[in-house]
Amino acid sequence: MPLVLRIALPVPLPTLFDYLPPASGAAAVGSRVLVPFGRNKAVGVVVETDMPAHVGSTRLKRVLRVLDETPLLDAELMQTLAWAADYWLGAPGEAYANALPLLLREDKPLPETQEPIWQLTIAGRSALDAGSRRGGSRALLQALLAGPMSATELDTTLPDWRPAARRLVEAGLIERAEPAPSSAFFPAVPKLALHAEQEVAIAAVTEAFGRFQPFLLDGITGSGKTEVYLALIERTLAQGKQALLLVPEIGLAPQTVRRLRDRLGVPVEVLHSNLAEGERARAWLRMRAGEAKVVLGTRSAVFTPLPHAGLIIVDEEHDSAYKQQEGFRYHARDLALVRGRALQVPVLLGSATPSLESLANVEAGRYRALHLRSRPAATHPPQVQIIDMRAQRLEHGLSPALLHAVGDAVTRGEQALVFRNRRGYAPVLLCHSCGWHAECPRCEHPLTLHAAWRKLVCHHCDLQAPVPSTCPTCGGQELKPQGQGTERLEEALTAHFPQVPVLRIDRETTRRRDAFEQLLDNLAEDAPAILVGTQMLAKGHDLPNLTLVAIVGVDEGLLSVDFRAGERLGQLVVQVAGRAGRARKPGRVLLQTHHPDHPLLHTLLAQGYTAAAKELLAERKQTGLPPYGHQVLLRCEAHQRAVVDAFLSEACAALPTADTLQIAGPMPAPMPLRAGRQRGQLLIESPSRRDLHAAVRPWSAQLAQLPSARKVRWSLDVDPIDLY
Ligand code: ADP
Ligand code: ZN
Ligand code: ZN
Repeated sequence: MPLVLRIALPVPLPTLFDYLPPASGAAAVGSRVLVPFGRNKAVGVVVETDMPAHVGSTRLKRVLRVLDETPLLDAELMQTLAWAADYWLGAPGEAYANALPLLLREDKPLPETQEPIWQLTIAGRSALDAGSRRGGSRALLQALLAGPMSATELDTTLPDWRPAARRLVEAGLIERAEPAPSSAFFPAVPKLALHAEQEVAIAAVTEAFGRFQPFLLDGITGSGKTEVYLALIERTLAQGKQALLLVPEIGLAPQTVRRLRDRLGVPVEVLHSNLAEGERARAWLRMRAGEAKVVLGTRSAVFTPLPHAGLIIVDEEHDSAYKQQEGFRYHARDLALVRGRALQVPVLLGSATPSLESLANVEAGRYRALHLRSRPAATHPPQVQIIDMRAQRLEHGLSPALLHAVGDAVTRGEQALVFRNRRGYAPVLLCHSCGWHAECPRCEHPLTLHAAWRKLVCHHCDLQAPVPSTCPTCGGQELKPQGQGTERLEEALTAHFPQVPVLRIDRETTRRRDAFEQLLDNLAEDAPAILVGTQMLAKGHDLPNLTLVAIVGVDEGLLSVDFRAGERLGQLVVQVAGRAGRARKPGRVLLQTHHPDHPLLHTLLAQGYTAAAKELLAERKQTGLPPYGHQVLLRCEAHQRAVVDAFLSEACAALPTADTLQIAGPMPAPMPLRAGRQRGQLLIESPSRRDLHAAVRPWSAQLAQLPSARKVRWSLDVDPIDLY
């Protein structure tokens, strides 16, 4: 029996692949290799070496080439990835592929960790003086006159610089230069005097440096959590160690990066999906080489190599953006904890509205809780008030009391935020004569009217349709938009307050890179304005002149059947409310609802998030739902319902019987049709995570072999965060 290498290849199959070692050179665990795969070649990662082959040696192929002389992935990352693939029942190859920036998954030499820098040559200077170049060439020479510039800097100042650069390099007028060594450690911005609770939190985490200890930093918005992160990162750097800071969204990144850079005086690497691939790969490699010390990133940054790890921080740890919802369905917060244990460093989870999972971990003594209860910068906590919408005359869904409050705020020269978690003009277009409404044929859900685009759009499958001028069923002329999206609220508020700028912030107005930042930059700090937006507005960004937050339409969240809806609504309300009164001016929060007596709203407003979370946790305990029970969801979709049902019953029959397993289904998914596909699911639950994994692990390997498996799309989700 020949000895083989076990290799992870980026394919959605629950297995590693055996290859004979390369003809020349050795391949170590964690190195990338090029292998023949089917009719093509593929880049994979060596997971095990010197293993006995599973298949006969005649069918074994040989590794073509070893791409890395020293392993690209270190032992800790290899161990963490193996754990992750096993825990989330993912295809191992997909787990490894997630860990590597795209450029590093290709058969190419590793990019240099430093970005190229361009500078003028002496000839270039003379050419500029002589005025011998025109157009783009001249503009580039002119730009470089002030000093050398990096490709990124040029991309922002002179978007079309590349062709000019090519011409000028050929003519010897500009050249590539060595980047200046990164500046030494010198904090630029003077530190704030920390308050007592911040000191306690910082001391507790510092005391745990060098070992694994999870902390939950539970602090209301504006209580100074980011200051705590900064102080701890500073201490990590002072020990010569690296820090990883995860944030849920890129929208949060620019402001935080600026704060980190100003304070720490060291380069801060940024990793998120909106970044150019070269940049991403370089940042990843600089952390791997230990050249860089601080990395700030979204979900997939949790895979950044940390050879000198000192601290891991997960900001807004409750945010569902940390869960990957396709392919390899890992949870970055949970993975951060796994890495913290492997790396023996403290992990700090921060939130104003901690997840019920983390609160339960505090209760069970697994995490240590740290609290920030006061807002250093604000004089008063915001005052929260419910507006009962019943029997009110509404103007595009806005009550007189709400409009009045917005009017008061802008008259005082302050800013107001109207929050509605729904894009578009109206969620339904209804015929007044016969009751017909526009529906997506592929999802059987109402289409959202987008007035500016003159389109009906399905928010589930992106189907777009023209807006009919008459009812297709009865020919009636009165097609009425029902309900409100942000676009309609923007229109209504603009009409009501013609003197005041109204700014809409949602996925449509922020499509371009940095658009969110730019929109907020346009907001004068001392002038009145009205912001209308979706949950993008719920986070980050200090708006010191914002004193009123009006939350419109929380009722969907109160009435939802999803067992997490209450938790989500509580988090959203508290996060959005936290935008008000961040500076010295007192803030006010209004909540418009048809259900003013709903117990969740009551607890939330009367006693705050912690009390509401306690009640929700008690309910979960009683019903055995997460975090007290554990779930694995098998999802399945196909064009025909019968095929879906067949696969799910085969899967159900193949499940081992165990006392502690509870099985719900097979049943249609909460959204039974989506994008023309029938959807179904099987939910497996157990109070014991160990039992659940023991049963599901071997079963998951069998699923692909079931008779109907080839006719459907299926996926497994461990700890699903929605049952959609
Ligand atoms: P969070 O991250 O909890 O929302 P931040 O760290 O952003 O809170 O702090 C909110 C505001 O309070 C910021 O403007 C920050 O500069 C200020 N701040 C934080 N800590 C202090 C302090 N100890 N003294 C004075 N101002 C502070
Ligand atoms: Zn009609
Ligand atoms: Zn649709």
